[in-house]
Amino acid sequence: MSTPHVGVLALQGDTREHLAALREAGAEVSTVRRLSELERVDALVIPGGESTTMSHLLRELELLEPLRARLAEGMPAYGSCAGMILLASEILDAGAAGREATPLKAIDITVRRNAFGRQVDSFEGDIAFDGLDGPVHAVFIRAPWVERVGPGVQVLGEAAGHVVAVRQGRMLATAFHPEMTGDRRIHKLFVDLLS
Ligand code: GLN
Repeated sequence: MSTPHVGVLALQGDTREHLAALREAGAEVSTVRRLSELERVDALVIPGGESTTMSHLLRELELLEPLRARLAEGMPAYGSCAGMILLASEILDAGAAGREATPLKAIDITVRRNAFGRQVDSFEGDIAFDGLDGPVHAVFIRAPWVERVGPGVQVLGEAAGHVVAVRQGRMLATAFHPEMTGDRRIHKLFVDLLS
C-alpha cells in the first residue's frame, strides 16, 4: 500500500489530536461520521469518549453493523480507551440496561469498563510498551483494563498489574490516551502495521 488512508471515528473525543498524530505518523487522514466516509478508509481509529454514548450514536447513524462488518473483513483498527472497549469481544460493567456499550468483537479480549475509575478517576505514569524503545507516558481517564486475553492476542503493556495495551494482527488497543502527550510512537506503530 502507498500512503494508507486512516479514518478517525468522529462522534466524540479527541478527534483532532488523533488526526494530527496520524498525519505526523505518515498517514492520509479523514473523519468518519457516515457510511460513505467509512467506505473510503483503509483503517480506522476509535478515540476515547464514552463507549455507551458512542454505541448509541453508531446505532443512530446506522454505522454499527457496517463497522462491525468491515472489522470482520479485517479492516485494521486502533482503539484508545472507549475505543478499546468497543473493539473488545466482551465488555464487563457495560452500562445501564438498554444503554450498554456494544462490543464490535474485533479483538479477542474481555475488558472491564471504568475499571481503574473505581480506584482513581484518572492517573498517569510511564509504562513499558512492547516493540517501542523506552517507556510510554500513559494517561488514563476513567480507563478500562483487560481481564481476559485470547490466544491470538499479544499483550503490549501493563499498568498496576493489569493489561492495558494489546495487539491482535492489525488490531491495536490501549486503555490510555497517547494522542494527549505528543508522543507519536503508538500512532506510528499502527500506521506501520498498514504497509
Ligand atoms: N469510561 C469511558 C467509557 O466507558 C472511557 C473513558 C475514556 O475514553 N477516556 O467509555
